[in-house]
Amino acid sequence: MANALKVVIVGCSGRMGQVLLECIFADADLVLHGALDRGNVDGFANPQLGHDAGEKLGKLSGIKVVDDIGLALKDADVLVDFTRPDATMSYLVACQQAKVNIVIGTTGFSNEQKIAISKASSDIGIVFAPNMSVGITLLINLVQSAAKVLSEGYDIEVIEAHHRHKVDAPSGTALRLGEAAASALGRDLAECAVYGREGITGERDPSTIGFATVRGGDVVGDHTVLFAGIGERIELTHKASSRATFALGALRAAKFLNGKSNGLFDMQDVLNLR
Ligand code: NAD
Repeated sequence: MANALKVVIVGCSGRMGQVLLECIFADADLVLHGALDRGNVDGFANPQLGHDAGEKLGKLSGIKVVDDIGLALKDADVLVDFTRPDATMSYLVACQQAKVNIVIGTTGFSNEQKIAISKASSDIGIVFAPNMSVGITLLINLVQSAAKVLSEGYDIEVIEAHHRHKVDAPSGTALRLGEAAASALGRDLAECAVYGREGITGERDPSTIGFATVRGGDVVGDHTVLFAGIGERIELTHKASSRATFALGALRAAKFLNGKSNGLFDMQDVLNLR
């Protein structure tokens, strides 16, 4: 416990935040150092503020939920963020100032925000990945290999499904999978992506990569990359059955950053898959 990595969780009251807390409590190499969330949620005071971060899980941690990032970062080793892009950008600046490494699991960033994250990595260590699961990280590599072999005569489509509460589409993971296929084929996803189809679309342009989004119920996260050729289809699919897969990956990323003073990494780096 004395040498345990001191982790701050932001968005600790959220779906991912709660699973992260559970995983930290179960790992002797990690200690909860700070727990942060918004002071106001939709105009109402956040009821969790001032309460023990483990209270809802029935495990008192001695760490109270606060909305003061400066306080939470003091003497911390790493911050783990699963919130919203605008919130992440402000936590990122605070981490730069406090020289604390950050794991960014939040999705839905604009290109400008992604550039700012990349710039910040000259000051601190950052793991930034739209999907922290080991299985998805491997899937990205499999998609790259498949795209190289199936470069002629196969149409590529990315299909994803998530729970009804998800606020961005397509998922950051779907975009990452599309990018993996596009880069393996020497294409720029920004130029070849087609997001949904409606009406008289005309025939499919073979150089495009299509995306289809499903939202409903409590689906944790399904992703399929389809390579459709003449006479056959290849489908590479990953299904997440619990948020623990993302939390465990994020905490593995937090350990990976330990001792690093700067640099931008993703889960391929964390799992040594390059
Ligand atoms: P959630 O809505 O359940 O939780 C978000 C938490 O962040 C809440 O507690 C909320 O109060 C807090 N928050 C702080 N500042 C905020 C702000 N300015 N606006 C809104 N909320 C703010 O969401 P979730 O399901 O836990 O997902 C959080 C993020 O993580 C999303 O972007 C989601 O897409 C992403 N995610 C990534 C992975 C991955 O592997 N990288 C996995 C799951 C979810």
